[in-house]
Amino acid sequence: MTERIDTTERKIVLVTGASSGIGEAVARELAGAGHHVVLAARREDRLEQVAADITRAGGSASTAALDVTDAGSCVRVVDEVVARHGRLDVLVANSGVMLLSPMTSLLAQEWDRMVDVNVKGVLHGIAAALPHFLRQGSGHFVTTASIGAHEVVPTAAVYCATKYAVWALMEGLRQDLPPTVRATTVSPGVVQSELASHITDPVAGAGMVEYRRSAIAPSAIGRAVAYAVGEPGDVDVNEVVVRPSAQRP
Ligand code: NDP
Repeated sequence: MTERIDTTERKIVLVTGASSGIGEAVARELAGAGHHVVLAARREDRLEQVAADITRAGGSASTAALDVTDAGSCVRVVDEVVARHGRLDVLVANSGVMLLSPMTSLLAQEWDRMVDVNVKGVLHGIAAALPHFLRQGSGHFVTTASIGAHEVVPTAAVYCATKYAVWALMEGLRQDLPPTVRATTVSPGVVQSELASHITDPVAGAGMVEYRRSAIAPSAIGRAVAYAVGEPGDVDVNEVVVRPSAQRP
């Protein structure tokens, strides 16, 4: 677990997609390090359970119902966090869906869903948080891309396209930001989570069984995010790629 920070360095962190998998692990790790985490996603019951666990363990957490495909809802949640805590220090834009299928299956609605959540959802978060970061003169965007932002494999054309897009967005965002606002892309390999459970295409679903056998615990990604968040303000961790030692490629 990440070392606990001095209370004067306690940050207010909003984590999207915190109801399961990587987002939940990121929230637990950052709360364990002493930061206040706001857990956001659509499944409020799951958020409440994780927040209660964090609180029981001595951490500080709250929850916010959020659908990242709704730009207005992103603005509302971010504004509420700032109204309540006086600031937002870190946005971890982690929500994502991976609805794999061969392009020939023509599951066009699932293509739209991935673009809406994985790309537009991240943009909505940036649009909501950036005005506060600029006004505060500080802030940190963290997003969960993927090794799929670096290579394309069969059945993953649209998913990888969304992750390439997020990678490019974060790279461009970093160049447009003042040096007081940081941007970190975390690109995981295979990680245990609910991500593959939403795949409807039988070919893609079957392919995942062997592929995901080497999956590592989501806490590995939690530690990577905690490392980037914990670096001093003049150090910007641009990208961290974390994959199972057993994963080739
Ligand atoms: P999970 O399916 O466990 O978590 C996905 C999270 O995204 C859930 O908390 C879900 O919450 C949230 N989410 C989905 N749709 C929306 C929405 N419209 N609005 C708000 N939140 C939403 O998978 P992971 O933890 O694995 O995924 C997290 C991120 O990590 C994703 O971006 C994924 O692409 C990326 N990633 C995962 C890898 C892996 O192997 N697991 C590898 C590389 C990258 P809810 O349904 O409650 O809204």
